[in-house]
Amino acid sequence: MEEMLAYRMIAGQKPFEQLVSSIPQPGEGEALVKVAGCGVCHTDLSFWHYGVPTRKALPLVLGHEISGTVIKGPANLKGKSVIVPAVLPCGECELCRNGRSNICQKQKMPGNDFDGGFASHTVVPARFLTVIPDKALANHSLAELSVIADAISTPYQVIIKSELKPGDLAIVIGVGGIGIYAAQLAKILGGNVLAIDVSQQKLDQLSQIGVTAALNTSGLDIKEIKKQVKAKCQEIGASPYGWKIYEMSGTKAGQELAFALLGIASTMSVVGFTLDKLEVRLSNLMAFDAQLIGTWGCRPELYADVIDLVIGGRLKLKPFTQTMPLSQINDVFKQTLEHKLLKRTVLVPNL
Ligand SMILES: [Zn+2]
Ligand SMILES: [Zn+2]
Repeated sequence: MEEMLAYRMIAGQKPFEQLVSSIPQPGEGEALVKVAGCGVCHTDLSFWHYGVPTRKALPLVLGHEISGTVIKGPANLKGKSVIVPAVLPCGECELCRNGRSNICQKQKMPGNDFDGGFASHTVVPARFLTVIPDKALANHSLAELSVIADAISTPYQVIIKSELKPGDLAIVIGVGGIGIYAAQLAKILGGNVLAIDVSQQKLDQLSQIGVTAALNTSGLDIKEIKKQVKAKCQEIGASPYGWKIYEMSGTKAGQELAFALLGIASTMSVVGFTLDKLEVRLSNLMAFDAQLIGTWGCRPELYADVIDLVIGGRLKLKPFTQTMPLSQINDVFKQTLEHKLLKRTVLVPNL
């Protein structure tokens, strides 16, 4: 009998437990995916370290940034390389029918609603799996492409939702694991990108994607940052109006700054998550005719666009991604928690 390997979360902050079991069979509408790679996301850390409860009770295999090969399931998917969207909607409800499937209330998330990708195999709903054309595998391994499932698709969804137009100043606050792709995508879609972070190491990565406008805000107060942002805006010839501000840091300081930068006809997008609360003057939205939007996940329909950007070589994944053996999961989680890994880590099953 064929066996599969998985690393299960048993309890918060405890080491993941290795489990060898028989390979599950997909049911109606499901697919069995042989995992090529699964990215480690901040959300996994929230479950494992910060006490955010998973929807399915523990023990649970985490991991929702999955790429792999369908080995059992619908005939049209068998043998295909796929991305498993991090948010799998029902496809039928009112939200799904109205183009809001990313927030479908019947959505299923691997590594949250059911056993996810830190395993050699996973059974997932088949309907919204995104097939990866062979061309996309010319310059990337299938494992590397797993980051499309969340780290890239989520910023893509928000940039589309914010209606970024060519020439708009796109301010990305926090250029870590997800923010670096927000900066990259905003640039590809014609934005005049200004990246903000408190880590010089992260800002230094921007040269690899051709983003030259950067601001290290470490030690600066909001007033000074606003002054410097205005100067940068002029320097790069961006419009002083209609700024698109993307809060990717998920910190109170980042959100305060993002709100403070909101000006005439601006849009602030909240992507990063924190439990902290802010005191702000919401009437600024009225005075500036500005908007404040949030985003969750990505509609599966948009994945093909993202894959096209990778195929064309415009969207670069390699410099910001590293693969590690799945057996090192405990080490990788610890190092990710301690911010020791600059690149997003994709765990690759090693049997
Ligand atoms: Zn995630
Ligand atoms: Zn739905």
